[in-house]
Amino acid sequence: MPDRSSEKKIVVAIGGNPNSGKTTIFNELTGSRQKVGNWGGVTVEKIEGTVNYNGYHIVFVDLPGTYSLTAYSIEEIIARNFIVEERPDVVVDIIDSGNLERNLYLAVQMIELGGDFIFVLNMADMAKKQGLLIDADKLGSFLGGPVLFTVGNRGIGVKAILDGVIDVYEQRATKTRTIQVPYGNEIEEEISTIQAKVEADSTLVGAYPPRWLGVKLLENDSDVQGKIRRNSEVQEAIAEQVAVSRKHLRDIFDEEAENIIADQRYGFISGLLQESVSLGTRTKQDLSQKIDKVLTNRLLGIPLLVLFIWIMFQVTFNVGSFPMRWIDTGVGLLSGAVSFLLPDGIFKSLIVDGIIGGVGGVAIFLPNILLLFFMISIFEDTGYMARAAFVMDRVMHLIGLHGKSFISMIMGFGCNVPAIMATRTLENEKDRVLTILINPLMSCSARLPVYVLIAGTFFGKRAGNVIFSLYALGVVLAIIVGRLFRKTLFRGESEPFVMELPPYRIPTLKSVVIHMWERAVLFLRKMGTVILVGSVVIWFFSSFPVNRAYRTEFERKKAAVEERYEGSIDSLRRSASGDSEISAELTALIKERDEALLDLAGEKKQQDVYYSFIGRMGRSIEPFFRPLGFSWREGVALITGFVAKEVVVSTLGVLYAGGGEEDELGFAVRERSGLTPLTAFAFLVFVLIYTPCLATLAAVRQETGSWRWTLFSVGYQITLAWLMAFAVVKVGALVT
Ligand code: GDP
Ligand code: MG
Repeated sequence: MPDRSSEKKIVVAIGGNPNSGKTTIFNELTGSRQKVGNWGGVTVEKIEGTVNYNGYHIVFVDLPGTYSLTAYSIEEIIARNFIVEERPDVVVDIIDSGNLERNLYLAVQMIELGGDFIFVLNMADMAKKQGLLIDADKLGSFLGGPVLFTVGNRGIGVKAILDGVIDVYEQRATKTRTIQVPYGNEIEEEISTIQAKVEADSTLVGAYPPRWLGVKLLENDSDVQGKIRRNSEVQEAIAEQVAVSRKHLRDIFDEEAENIIADQRYGFISGLLQESVSLGTRTKQDLSQKIDKVLTNRLLGIPLLVLFIWIMFQVTFNVGSFPMRWIDTGVGLLSGAVSFLLPDGIFKSLIVDGIIGGVGGVAIFLPNILLLFFMISIFEDTGYMARAAFVMDRVMHLIGLHGKSFISMIMGFGCNVPAIMATRTLENEKDRVLTILINPLMSCSARLPVYVLIAGTFFGKRAGNVIFSLYALGVVLAIIVGRLFRKTLFRGESEPFVMELPPYRIPTLKSVVIHMWERAVLFLRKMGTVILVGSVVIWFFSSFPVNRAYRTEFERKKAAVEERYEGSIDSLRRSASGDSEISAELTALIKERDEALLDLAGEKKQQDVYYSFIGRMGRSIEPFFRPLGFSWREGVALITGFVAKEVVVSTLGVLYAGGGEEDELGFAVRERSGLTPLTAFAFLVFVLIYTPCLATLAAVRQETGSWRWTLFSVGYQITLAWLMAFAVVKVGALVT
């Protein structure tokens, strides 16, 4: 390291593609004060030149020209090792502006090495000829360093590089933000896993940027692999993890990790160019660009996005309704069979009402949830998700966020937990926390069962529209709340970001199926754990304590009914033989008796629940929900719904369980809840807005690293949920 205080010596590396004009600029800067040698041990020429300028002694090192920073050639290894190992004070990247895309491919790889950069857009004359308009400030803010224009062979702008170098060295340059190329969820996950292992090794930490090592190892970079010498348990673990990660990615993408990573870099660059360079008229376009002309069109972009999301929900509900019916029938059969086999009593009640009722009631939504994730992964895998974010960029700016936050919002339709984790790609802390706070307003798939149940019961044919309106309400509220928070809690501008626009691809069936399978496993695990335990707990608290007095009364009533019919049924039976008229009368009478018994059983269940722990708790919190028109049962369901939204349905299932097994839940809710279509809608609005589940809370806690934000998120969501539900009831009452 140079001694900054006394001598003010600055070491500057000059890098860039071959023929970008490096030598021309190097000569222009250093004149004749050059020293030619070789890079340690190899025959690649190393040229150094010095300049004394404004009291600084600046040493320029001309790096070998390369197109990339892989380990394919000795030049590439020399260039990157110099940046990583010698740590020059400033790296000047000479870019041929007539060949921006290819030159930026090197630039983004240099940035990954870390350090302070200046980007020199050389051949500015060629760019002008091509009709390119380059926004230097914007490009600089994305790359994380100042951008200068030069025409090397005519010496234009070259001296400004010296001032630029000193500004960066003295930390006076605007920036200096380290950007990261985002590689997409799957790859990012593997990078962080490997990175964590790398960080456990003290010999590697400090020597190389851990993220860079992670990326390079995933890319199967032979030079970096050589640095992991496997001479310790930790290094052994790193090598093993790399193999596992690469295999996992190959399974998902059907392609080697290095290819996907390269694609992502180009995607990043394409987004970078889209945002900071206006293309002239005579530029050729590839297919992706042609599709983008339509999908990211200023006027068509948003309507098309809304259309695609609408199609997504149509597929989810319409296609999903078939397998849903099969599962429903299956659950019904199972419940009937078990009821038939088991003797009456506590155990039967636990199995039938608690477990089958609770878990089965949720299981039927598996197809919907899988289809939703199927659609979302198609959005992601085709590359459309990035365009959606690009299109929404301007809308997101209304709340002071970047389009990138929108990706986490769409993912929120699937599940808020991974969506909240996806905000890791946002580097700015304020943007991140804000995006995390509004994410739960995106209606996740766990809320779907509640919507389908309640909307299906109260709105019949219009249920689909009601559900769509809830999703839309969630988005609108996210925007309003986001704007409010931006104005109050998170003042300031969002940081510039690049929306990477990867080339369109046809998704592989394999990757889509893997995504769906991962979801299915999560959902099934949730059914086997949270929902199962939740159902049993709710069943317990709704079955105990037992009201002895009522039990006795019930037995008496039951006996009375049986007695009332016994005499006449017996006498009919005796005289029935052969006479069809009397047989019919007998059948009718038996049916009448059974119905009376069923009614009685239903009444008993209601009485039991009313008297139970849950009934008492429900009634004590009733005042909170009374203004919204919810009965104590809905109140209890909302409270248990904190655990997970599917549990709302399980709870309603237990609380409204009628006497007859075939008594449908929707029917029972409509008959006994006292909800009207208006208060039912208010209930759905409440479900939409209040805290989605404990797992989301845990994710908020983990990603914000703060209990205060976690509690704040619960607080604002409950308050908003109550106020919005209240508004629905009041406004609705005025209108009707
Ligand atoms: P290097 O391979 O990166 O060292 O590139 P050179 O410095 O050898 O330059 C390659 C060619 O580009 C030479 O013929 C230069 O004269 C020419 N050149 C350098 N800068 C510019 C520029 O700004 N505009 C134009 N039109 N040509 C340039
Ligand atoms: Mg040269």
